[in-house]
Amino acid sequence: MGGRRAWPPPRERYIQHMKEYKQRQSTKSINGPFLCPKCGKLSLIIKKGKVENGRIEVQAICSCGVNGKVLLKYSPVFTNVDYYNQYIDLISKGLKL
Ligand SMILES: [Zn+2]
Repeated sequence: MGGRRAWPPPRERYIQHMKEYKQRQSTKSINGPFLCPKCGKLSLIIKKGKVENGRIEVQAICSCGVNGKVLLKYSPVFTNVDYYNQYIDLISKGLKL
C-alpha cells in the first residue's frame, strides 16, 4: 500500500501539455495584434463594440494612426481574427484606411 502515485502518467501529461500549448498558440493569433494594412507592422488591434441587427461595430486601431470604425457581419462564434479578415476584405474593396 502507499507509494508515490504517478498521476498523471507521462502520456496524459504530454497530451495535456500539447493541448495547452496549442491553445496558447491559437489564442495569440486569434486575438491579435494583427498585421496593419498601412504600416505593415504587427500592431493592429481589433476592438469590438456593440452588436445590432446581426452586425457588430468594430474598431481597428494601430499605432501608425489607423483608426477605423466599421460595421461587420456578426456571429457569436467569430473571434477577432474573423473581424480582422472582414476588415482587410473591406479595405481590398476600397474602404479608406
Ligand atoms: Zn499601422
